[in-house]
Amino acid sequence: MTVVGCIGGGQLGRMLALAGIPLGLRFRFLDPGPDACAAAVGELVVGPYDDPDALDRLADGAAVVTYEFENVPVGAAERVGALPGPVALREGQDRLREKELFTRLGIPTARFGGVEAVGLPALVKKRRLGYDGKGQRLAETVEPLAEDELAEELVPFDRELSIVAVRGRDGDTRFWPVAENVHREGILRVSRAPAPGAPQAEAEVIAARLLDELGYVGVLAVELFEVDGRLLANEFAPRVHNTGHWTIDGAVTSQFENHLRAVLGWPLGPTDAIAPSVMVNLLGDLPSLPRLLELGAHVHVYGKEPRQGRKLGHATLVGADDETVAEAARLADAAASSGSGA
Ligand code: AMP
Repeated sequence: MTVVGCIGGGQLGRMLALAGIPLGLRFRFLDPGPDACAAAVGELVVGPYDDPDALDRLADGAAVVTYEFENVPVGAAERVGALPGPVALREGQDRLREKELFTRLGIPTARFGGVEAVGLPALVKKRRLGYDGKGQRLAETVEPLAEDELAEELVPFDRELSIVAVRGRDGDTRFWPVAENVHREGILRVSRAPAPGAPQAEAEVIAARLLDELGYVGVLAVELFEVDGRLLANEFAPRVHNTGHWTIDGAVTSQFENHLRAVLGWPLGPTDAIAPSVMVNLLGDLPSLPRLLELGAHVHVYGKEPRQGRKLGHATLVGADDETVAEAARLADAAASSGSGA
C-alpha cells in the first residue's frame, strides 16, 4: 500500500484522500485538532505542525508528504521532504516577497509598498498569515505602516479570476480552464468555469512562469484581477484551491487527483472541462441537501461543525442553466445567513 502523508487534516486533505483512495492510496494526516475532518478518510496524527516527533510519525513509511495549507512552517516541510518544495512556501508566506517575486517574473500586480506610494484609499494587508480577507483594512489617509504590513493599490477590477495549474516531477504542466470567482466579505462564494471570455493564454503564462521558477511539483493556484481586459496577480497558493473544487465533477481529471499524480511522479490526467460548471460554497450552515440534489447538484459535505462563515461543503452544477444555478446559490445564501452562528 502506498501511503501519502499530508500536513493538515481539513477539507482539502479530505478531498485529496477521496481522490486518491480509488488509486489504491492510503492517507495519513497531521493536524493539531483531534476532530480534523480528514480523519474520516485516513489515519490522524494529532500534534502541532512543527513537532518533530509528530512529523516523523506522519512521514514514517510514506511514499510522499504533501500539505493542504500555505502556512505550513518551512522547517516542517523541509524535515519531511514535502512536495511542493519549501521554496514555494517561503516565497508565498510573505505578501511582500510574493509581490516581489511576481515583479521579478514580469507578472503584473497592483501597485504595492507604502501608503504614499500606492495612493489613497489603500488596502493595508498583514504581510503574513492573512487569508480570506482577514488582516486587511482600508487606509483613507497617508499613515506609516507597521513592519508586518503592506499597502496595495485598491484595484477597480471588473472581475476576479483564478487559474489552477499542475506540474509533474518531469516538468509536464497542465492548466484547468480559468475560473471566475465571486467573493463576499473576503470569502469565496461562487466559482464559474470556464470563465466566459477569460484570457486563458495570458493566465497560463503567469502560472507557468511561477511553476518553472519554483521548480514546482503539484497543484498551484493563482488568484487574479481582471481590469480592462488585463490580468493582475493578487496571490498564489501552493496547494489545491477552493476555486478548483469544480474540477471534481466538472473536469476530466480533478485538481486533487492530479496533485497526487504529480507528487507521486505519476502521469498527469487531462484537465479539460466536461461542461460549464458552477461551484457554490456552503458556508456557516448547510441548506437542505435533498433540495440541492433535486437541482442536479453534486454535493460535497466536509463533516465539520456549523459555525458562522465556516466552509462546510460545496455544491457543483455541471452543464446547468442559469436559473438552476441561481436557485442553488439562493439556497446556500439563505442557509449561510440563517445559520446557527454557533
Ligand atoms: P486576499 O486576502 O489578498 O486574498 O484578498 C481577499 C479579497 O479582497 C480578494 O479576493 C479581493 O476581493 C479583495 N482584494 C484583495 N486585494 C485587493 C486589491 N488590491 N484591490 C481590490 N480588492 C482587493
